[in-house]
Amino acid sequence: MPASTPSMNNFVKDRDLRRLINVTAIGFTFAGVVLLCVILYAAWAANSSARERETALLNNALNRSIHRTLNEQKSVAWWDDAYAALHGSAPATEFLDSEFGIFLSETYGHDVIAILDDNNLPVFLYSGGSRRPVADFERYNNIVAPVVAELRGLPGRSLRQRPDLFGADQKSYRSIGSPLDSARWAGHLMTVDQQPAVVAALTILPNVDKTLLKPGRAHILLSVNVIDEDYLKELGRSLLLTDLSLSRKPVEKPGSVTMPLETDEGHLAGLVSWKTEQPGRSLISIILPLVAIGFIAVAAAAHIMLQRLRNTSTHLALEEKRSRHAAKHDALSGLPNRAHFAEHLETALAGLDPSGSKQHAIVAYLDVDRFKDINDTMGHSAGDDLVREVANRLRAHVRSGDIIARYGGDEFAILWMSADPEAPALLASRIARALLSPIELEGQPIAVTASVGIAIAPLHGRTVDEVMRHADIALYEAKNAGRNRTIVFSADMAEQVEQRRAIEMDLTTAISNDELTVAYQPIISCDTGAIVGVEALARWTHAKRGQIPPGVFIPIAEQAGLMAALGERVLARTMRDWHAWPHLEVSINISPLQFRQSDIVAILGSMATQYQIDPSRFVLEITEGVLMDAGERTHEALEGIRNLGFRMALDDFGTGYSSLAYLCNFQFDKIKVDRSFVSGLAKSASFRTIVQSVVSLGNGLGMKIVAEGVELATEAQSMTAYGCSEMQGYYFAKPMPREALEVFLHSYTPAPRALSNEPVLRIVAAP
Ligand code: C2E
Ligand code: MG
Ligand code: MG
Repeated sequence: MPASTPSMNNFVKDRDLRRLINVTAIGFTFAGVVLLCVILYAAWAANSSARERETALLNNALNRSIHRTLNEQKSVAWWDDAYAALHGSAPATEFLDSEFGIFLSETYGHDVIAILDDNNLPVFLYSGGSRRPVADFERYNNIVAPVVAELRGLPGRSLRQRPDLFGADQKSYRSIGSPLDSARWAGHLMTVDQQPAVVAALTILPNVDKTLLKPGRAHILLSVNVIDEDYLKELGRSLLLTDLSLSRKPVEKPGSVTMPLETDEGHLAGLVSWKTEQPGRSLISIILPLVAIGFIAVAAAAHIMLQRLRNTSTHLALEEKRSRHAAKHDALSGLPNRAHFAEHLETALAGLDPSGSKQHAIVAYLDVDRFKDINDTMGHSAGDDLVREVANRLRAHVRSGDIIARYGGDEFAILWMSADPEAPALLASRIARALLSPIELEGQPIAVTASVGIAIAPLHGRTVDEVMRHADIALYEAKNAGRNRTIVFSADMAEQVEQRRAIEMDLTTAISNDELTVAYQPIISCDTGAIVGVEALARWTHAKRGQIPPGVFIPIAEQAGLMAALGERVLARTMRDWHAWPHLEVSINISPLQFRQSDIVAILGSMATQYQIDPSRFVLEITEGVLMDAGERTHEALEGIRNLGFRMALDDFGTGYSSLAYLCNFQFDKIKVDRSFVSGLAKSASFRTIVQSVVSLGNGLGMKIVAEGVELATEAQSMTAYGCSEMQGYYFAKPMPREALEVFLHSYTPAPRALSNEPVLRIVAAP
């Protein structure tokens, strides 16, 4: 199926789009997860770096505590007076109390202050706000021993080493004289009474008068500064660490950090905890929601865009499908259109066995009879309803799988695939059955028939054009043969059609070159025998074929849409010629097609003016074809012609339906009784009866009766006897050119009404 390519494209488009949506969704999810991880990692990294920084600060602060304690000790230990007091002969108890014990404990909050002599034995102990017996130092002995050993440079328990901040600070002291050369110090974080404490030891030396310095080891000032809650609070304030505390168990508060506090001898002195700054929290609580909102917004926008894209694409695909369907189907009937039918037929023809021994493709080309009349009389919406109903009926009567198409206005095409030799007849009967019951249009049941032409492939052609052309020829034949029938194509039809086509082309040229002429046939008064009028009859002499009778070229002109032009030429020529014999009445034949294809009233009006004729001298002959199913338009046209002053004759009465209703509905001036009645007079009494009836009816309605085709004197006498007003026929004169008519008019002698059986009127041979 050729339609598979676009639908495949759609499928591909839709699949691509779905893939794009999936990839975008996965991409967004992945990007979201990565972004979340990055933010969480950044928060964690910020928190842990804050924690590390706080821990480092705390450790540094503890180092600085040792440094500070040593500095505080230094304010009294490196002092000439203090040195002198310790090395004097008399014990300087008061001095030591006030300058060491009270000063250091009350000014700097040292918990234990002791002085050790050169043998490291305590000579002074101050704690709990008063001097203590030196024996009480015993309990500290063990604790402070490694610190003292480190200061003295003696072997002892090794302690964790801390940066010597105190030593680094002593450079400025040098300028005012320093005991540094002999100064020793040591400071550590130790466990004292189960509590962490800063234990600092510093040699007591003269700071200004170096002469005071005695040989031997110096005394040591030893301070113990317990790290208690207050101490930590103070430390926390200076370090801007909230809730800094010491405990035995880990603190389970959210946002708290716990750090084991290990003293320098390697003991766990407790757990220090504080509320960490947690910069990552703001990242999580502020940045993450903002990023999440932004991300969700972008994802939502992308989703909406993709969804729109998908909707648009679906819509476009649907539109494409719809327009593809519309391009291949007829909007009114919903059937495949001509192009789509051709595609199906082409595929069917391609699949046929060339010998034609198996399957055949049977194409029925169908034309609804008198569709135009229905359209003209009942209106276009009734015409549309008719097309729809015919389509439905055909659909209901063919087999599923057969293709029915609307081929044109009132034309349908059916494609049957069959190997059955009876299939064309079967198809024809199905079509006839489909239209058997009348179709209701605007509440009226209308009997609808169709003319059908059938072509069978491969017998009648192997291409779409060939098969359709042959089906068209068969259809044409069906129409020509009187419609409401099915005709199967045969080779001789094609020849006839070819001939017709050739004639049609030549006729077109002949009309446009004004090659057609007009012959005039006299019309004789039955009363006086005088020529009262002439009938204008179109004549065409073909360059190769010679004279072509109007019975041949008029229908061709009608079918080829040339009738309006041809009619105008005849009218123009006749109106011009009439001026040569204005005393005569001129009859001109008007085709039903001139009523349909042109504004006949306007044309007659303008021509009457142009050629300055007297319309009352002109009789327009119309046939029943004009009156059948005459709509409003025809009525108006007939009325308009009458108003212009033209007179009207009903031509060929007796050949068609011969409806008496026409005679009552339209006011004619004349009725022309067809030649078949005139020639039939001698054969059958019923003809005579009919002619007499028509004559009396015409007389009753005030219409003249003209006898056509009078060939014999007897016919002339009889028609005169039956009461006809006028006669026309070879008995009097054949149609002749204008010039011949002029001669004829001069030579013609009217004879009075015949009373005998002898021919009363002369026979004149026409040229
Ligand atoms: P019609 O209008 O009935 O014209 C009378 C036809 O009968 C003419 O045939 C005429 O030659 C023929 N005829 C006259 N007397 C006799 C006779 O005694 N015996 C026989 N056998 N025939 C006789 P023609 O000229 O061949 O025209 C045939 C028809 O073609 C006309 O029939 C008319 O219907 C149509 N026709 C001719 N010219 C025109 C035209 O200009 N316009 C239209 N619309 N139709 C035309
Ligand atoms: Mg006529
Ligand atoms: Mg006639």
